[in-house]
Amino acid sequence: MMNWVEQEKKYFMSTVERAPLAIVKGEGSYVWDEHGRRYLDFVAGWAVNSLGHCHPAVVEAVRRQVGELIQTSNHYYTLPQLQLAEILIENSSLDKIFLCNSGAEASEGAVKLARRYGKLHLGGAYEVITTTGSFHGRTLAMVSASGQLKYQQPYTPLPSGFINVEFNSIEAIKQATTDTVCAVMLEPVQGEGGVNVPSPGYLKEVRQWCDEKGIVLILDEIQTGIGRAGALFAHQLYGIEPDVMALAKGLGGGLPIGAIMAKNKFSVFSAGEHGSTFGGNPVTCAAAYATIKFMIDNDVPRNAHEMGQYLVERLTELKRKHPALITEVRGKGLLTAVQFQRDVAKDLARRCLESGLLVNDVKPNALRLMPALTITQKEIDEAVESLNTAIVRLESCEIG
Ligand SMILES: *Cc1c(COP(=O)(O)O)cnc(C)c1O
Repeated sequence: MMNWVEQEKKYFMSTVERAPLAIVKGEGSYVWDEHGRRYLDFVAGWAVNSLGHCHPAVVEAVRRQVGELIQTSNHYYTLPQLQLAEILIENSSLDKIFLCNSGAEASEGAVKLARRYGKLHLGGAYEVITTTGSFHGRTLAMVSASGQLKYQQPYTPLPSGFINVEFNSIEAIKQATTDTVCAVMLEPVQGEGGVNVPSPGYLKEVRQWCDEKGIVLILDEIQTGIGRAGALFAHQLYGIEPDVMALAKGLGGGLPIGAIMAKNKFSVFSAGEHGSTFGGNPVTCAAAYATIKFMIDNDVPRNAHEMGQYLVERLTELKRKHPALITEVRGKGLLTAVQFQRDVAKDLARRCLESGLLVNDVKPNALRLMPALTITQKEIDEAVESLNTAIVRLESCEIG
């Protein structure tokens, strides 16, 4: 067996601080390391493995497609992308789709679409209002869009055209809206920013404001969409419809695929104005179609809603057990976070790993839990037990 720690250090750019674990196999909510040890996975490939690892429906669709046709140019029609487009549009409030390969590509494409709309219909308005604590991806423009200094500072000067304002404040959006603003872009619930759930009226107020001003409302549902928040799309839970929506992460059931969706009125790209070599690739589209089809046929978003409630209940019990350490449990569906009184998240994530549970320290003082949407009560019980063990060990260590 190769020494993977040394190999990684030798060959990789050091963009990520990895956990001491090499994953070699996954099934459902579990993964295995190279020694055959099993871990319960509450990271799920960054909220990507929506149906769990290697779901049979996804595996079968990929196997079938990979033996038929792997890639063509978008100069030609291919059936898997048409099938995927149909199921997504017929099950959403949006009318048109553009397929791409990742989240950053989807959110940046959504911004390009809004700018195109601004040029055609808003007198050349081009600026996009985004919020602090948001995350829209890692391209230079999306780093500029994301309201987090840690992603921006290494790369200044940043591309212009983004105004970061306070999240969850309609007043901040109103104040920033000038004649040069063409759009507001938001995550319905901020994911990477720490699972920040807006107050109940916020998204409706933003929707109203965008209507009033005639500007585009882009929802970045890359993390919240495809069942994660407890509905196929999170905005359905807030009683609004976006003009433009970005999807990725859970869309492909583990395969890399993203999408921009838009209402007819905002579908203003014309031929040659946007594109992607791999976008709409038959294999990733077949995986995404199988994922969405299974999700709808089996009402997986309902399971995400119910299991999300159960997870929050169990974590709230944990909070009662450790009142000095846990200050808050929050989330929507199966996008949840546990907030701590001090910066213990990294330490706890390491202890959880030792006891066989994978979690993400989304902030120095918060853990994010985002299991497969097919998770069961029994698996949640197991996760909460492991987290409790990790907390007890941490506390006894701190006392000792
Ligand atoms: C993960 C994420 C992105 C970026 O997706 P990539 O596939 O990593 O480019 C953008 N927006 C949100 C809300 C995300 O969670």
